[in-house]
Amino acid sequence: MGAGLTFVGSAFVPSWSSVTILLAYLGYLAIAGSVLPGKLVAGAVLSDGSRIIYRCNGLLSLSLLVVLLGLGVGLNFISLSVIADSGPALLSTTLVFSILVSLILHVVGCKSRHKGSSLRPHVTGNFIHDWNKKLKTSLIRKYKFVLLRKRQPSFEMYRITWFGIQLNPHVLGVDLKFFFVRAGMMGWLLLNLSILLKSSQTRSLNLAMMLYQLFCALYTIDYFVYEEYMTSTWDIIAERLGFMLVFGDLVWIPFTFSIQGWWLSENKVEMNKWEALANGLVFVVGYCIFRGANKQKHDFKKNPTAPIWGAPPKVIGGKLLASGYWGVSRHCNYLGDLLLALSFSLPCGAISIIPYFYPIYLFVLLVWRERRDEARCSQKYKETWAEYCRLVPWRIFPYVY
Ligand code: NDP
Repeated sequence: MGAGLTFVGSAFVPSWSSVTILLAYLGYLAIAGSVLPGKLVAGAVLSDGSRIIYRCNGLLSLSLLVVLLGLGVGLNFISLSVIADSGPALLSTTLVFSILVSLILHVVGCKSRHKGSSLRPHVTGNFIHDWNKKLKTSLIRKYKFVLLRKRQPSFEMYRITWFGIQLNPHVLGVDLKFFFVRAGMMGWLLLNLSILLKSSQTRSLNLAMMLYQLFCALYTIDYFVYEEYMTSTWDIIAERLGFMLVFGDLVWIPFTFSIQGWWLSENKVEMNKWEALANGLVFVVGYCIFRGANKQKHDFKKNPTAPIWGAPPKVIGGKLLASGYWGVSRHCNYLGDLLLALSFSLPCGAISIIPYFYPIYLFVLLVWRERRDEARCSQKYKETWAEYCRLVPWRIFPYVY
C-alpha cells in the first residue's frame, strides 16, 4: 500500500521531460502566434476607449503543430504517446508554472503605473487580500484602500478577489489572456490525441473512445475556426488575468476535460449503434444551439440589423438581441455547451460518476457565471436589461430555469 502510494506520488513529480514539453509547447505557440498570418480582430471597446487587436491564427498554429508533430513521430524524433505517458508529471509542472506566472503577474500588476484600462492595477496590491474572496467596503476602508478608490472611480470595491490585477497584460506584444486560453484548448486536443494513440497501442481503442475523441476534436477545432468569437466573450472582456484564469486555462481545461479519455483507456465500455446514434444526436443538438447562439450574438454586435433566422432581429433599446436563441433564454449558448459536455461523457456509460466530472463542473460554473453576467448586464443596461428579462424570463433552460 505504502509502496503503491509512493509510486503514484512519484509520478506527479515534475521531470525534465515534462518541463521540456511544456516550455517547448508554450515557446512554439508564442512564436507561431506572433509570426503566422491570421485575421486581425479588434476586441471590445475598453473603458478608456482603446481596443486590443487580436491575431486569430489559432487554426493555422494548430495545423502547423500537428504537421510538425506528425513529422517528428514519422522520423522517430518523438513519440506522441509521451504526452499521455508523462500525464501526472505534466500536470504538476503546469500547476507550478501557473503559480509562478500568477505571482509574476501579481508583482508586475501591483507595480504598474499605467493609466490605461488594460494595464492599470485594478486591485489593492495586498497579496493575501487580492487572493481572498469578496472584501466588504468596511474592510477595504480599514486597509486604507479608499485612497485607491479615489484615484480609480471605476474600481469595483466589492470584487477584490483572486481574479488578478490587470485586465490585459501582455509580453512582447503577446496578449497573455488570449494566449493562455489558446494553449489550454490546444493542450486538451493534444492530450486527447496522445491518449488515442496510446489506446491504439494497448488495443483499448473501441467505439466509445472513438466517439469521445471525435466529439472533443470537433469541439476544439471548431473553437479555433471561430476563434475571433472569443474576443467578445466574458473572459476576454471582463475578467482580469490572475490565478483563476491562468490555472483554469493551462491546468484545468486540458487535464480535467480529458478525464473521460483517461477513464476510457482504463475501462472498457461497449456501445451499440442506437446508443451511439443517441449520443451523436445530443452532440449535434448541443452544437447547433452553442454555435448558433454565439454566432447570432457575434453577428448582431457587428450588424444590429442582420436577419436572425430569416427575419429582422427583435432588438431592445437598440442594444440587446431578443430573438433567435436569445429570445429562447438569456443564455441559450450555455445550454448548448452543457449538452455538448454531456455528449463527451455519455460514451462512458453509467458505470461511474467520474467521467461526468466535466458536465457537472460546467453546470456549476455556468450557473455561477450566468449570475455574475446578469449582475454586470443589469448594471450596464439598467432598464433595458429589465425589459429584456420581462420579455425573455428564462435564464438558461427554457421553462425550467
Ligand atoms: P456570453 O458569450 O453569453 O457573453 C455575455 C455577454 O454578452 C454579456 O456580458 C453582454 O455583454 C452580452 N449579451 C448578453 N445578452 C445579450 C443579448 N441579448 N444581446 C446582446 N448582447 C448580449 O458569455 P461567456 O463569455 O460566458 O460565454 C461564451 C461561450 O463560452 C459560451 O458558449 C459558454 O458556454 C462558453 N464557455 C465555456 C466554458 C468551458 O469551460 N467550456 C467556460 C466559459 C464559457 P456586452 O456588455 O458586450 O453587451
